[in-house]
Amino acid sequence: MSELKLPARSEDFSEWYNQLVLRAELADYAPVRGCMIVRPYGWALWENIQQALDRRFKATGHVNAAFPLLIPRSFIEKEKSHVAGFSPELAVVTVGGGEKLEEPLVIRPTSETIIGHAYAKWIQSYRDLPLLINQWNSVVRWELRTKLFLRTLEFYWQEGHTAHATFEEAEAETRQMLNIYTDFAATDAAVPVIPGRKSESERFAGADQTYSIEAMMGDGKALQAGTSHNLGQNFAKAFEIRYLDKNGTLQYCWTTSWGLSTRFIGAIIMVHGDDQGLILPPRLAPFQVVIVPIFKSDEEKARVMEAARKIRAALVAADIRTKMDEREGVSPGFKFNDWEMRGVPLRLEIGPKDVAKDTVVLARRDKPGKEGKSFVPQEGLPSAVNKTLSEIQTALYERALAFREANTQDPKDYAEFKAAVETGFAFSFWCGRAKCEEQIKEETKATMRCIPLDQPGGEGRCICCGQPAKEKAIFGRAY
Ligand SMILES: [Zn+2]
Repeated sequence: MSELKLPARSEDFSEWYNQLVLRAELADYAPVRGCMIVRPYGWALWENIQQALDRRFKATGHVNAAFPLLIPRSFIEKEKSHVAGFSPELAVVTVGGGEKLEEPLVIRPTSETIIGHAYAKWIQSYRDLPLLINQWNSVVRWELRTKLFLRTLEFYWQEGHTAHATFEEAEAETRQMLNIYTDFAATDAAVPVIPGRKSESERFAGADQTYSIEAMMGDGKALQAGTSHNLGQNFAKAFEIRYLDKNGTLQYCWTTSWGLSTRFIGAIIMVHGDDQGLILPPRLAPFQVVIVPIFKSDEEKARVMEAARKIRAALVAADIRTKMDEREGVSPGFKFNDWEMRGVPLRLEIGPKDVAKDTVVLARRDKPGKEGKSFVPQEGLPSAVNKTLSEIQTALYERALAFREANTQDPKDYAEFKAAVETGFAFSFWCGRAKCEEQIKEETKATMRCIPLDQPGGEGRCICCGQPAKEKAIFGRAY
C-alpha cells in the first residue's frame, strides 16, 4: 500500500501513472501481455461511469442488448475499409471443441458487422426505424504497445449502434451522442473536453464522418476520450440493411455507432491526479467520503466508534457513498495517506474531542493541508457533506479547464506551433489537406486531434503551408 511515495508527477508522469494504477488498486497486469485485470475499486469507478452514461442513453430512447463475442471472419471482410482498418488487430479463433473450424471466427474488435447482420433481419419497413440499441461489453484489439486503461488488448466499453431512414437523422444521432459524451465528461467526470470532427485520416474504419471528444491530460498530451461515427450507408450496403419507405420503395438505411471505454478511467487519473495520488470527482468516486475514527484508549474507542457509526448511517441514508476505515493496527496518519492516494474526495475525521463538541473535521482531497479543512457540526452533516462534495466537483472542473486554457496556444507561425505542441495544444488554422497533417505529424509528433465544432469564425492561413484556411483545428501529442 502507501508505504512508499509515488514518483513525482512532474518528473516522471508515465511512471507516476503506472504505479498509481497499481497502488490505488484500480487494475493489475494479467498473465497475457497487454491484458488487464480491473480490480474492485477500478470496477466500482467504471460502474459509476456506466450508470452516468446509461441513464443518458435511456433518456434519449436507447435500449440495451447483448450480441455475441464471436463473429464469422467473412463478416469483417464485407466492408472494405472496415477490414483494412481492423485486420492487423484481429484475434482469430481457428479451433473449437478440438476441431479445426470450417470458417475461422474473430473475437469482436467492435460489433458493426454482427449487429449489421441482425439489423438486416429486423428492419423491413420505415416503421422499424429508428432502431436504437446499445451494448455494454468488452472487445479485443491486438495492440502492440499497451498501458493499463489507456490501451489494452481487451477493454470494456459501450457500443451504440443505430439505424435511421435518412442521412439527416443519422447525423443528428451522431451529434446527439457526441453531446452526451461531452456532457458526461464535464458534469460527472469534471473533465473538460473539446468536441469536434476528425480528419479523414483519423476516421473510424468504415465511417463517413467521425467525431470525438478530446481532453488534455496533466502532462499536456491529448487523449481521445470517446467517439461517435456517422457510418453513412457503408454498413447498410455491405449487410443489406434496407427498409420499405412510405412509397413502397426499398431504401438502404443510414447507420451510426458510438463508444466510450475504460480508457476514460485513464483520463480521470491523468486530468485530476497529483503527487499524492488520485483525485476522484465526487460524482463518480466509489467512496465519496471516508470516515477515519481517531482514538487511543479502549474507552475513547467505544465513544468515537459509536458516534462514527451514527454518522455513517446518516450519510448512507442521504445516499452518500461512505466508507468507514476500521482497520486495526494502522495509524490514522497511514489511513489519511492511503485514502489520499486512492483519491477519496472527502475525509471525515472524528476523535474524542470532536465527540465531546458534537463536531467532525472534514478534509478536502483537492485542497491539501489546513486550507481544505473545516470543523463541522454533526447536526445536519449530510447536507454539509453534499455541499462540500459539489464544491469539490466544481473546483476540479475549473482547475482542469484553467490548465487546458493555460496550455493551449494560438501560435503566430510554424516555429511557435512547434514549441506549443511540446507542452500542450495548438489551436491553429489548417487548410484541410492530408499533406500538411502528415508533415506536422512527422516534424512535431503532434496529430490533428479534432476540428472543434465551436469555431471562432473568419479565415486564416494554414499553420503549415500558409494557404488560405477556413477552419481551426486542435493539434497535440496524443496517447
Ligand atoms: Zn496546409
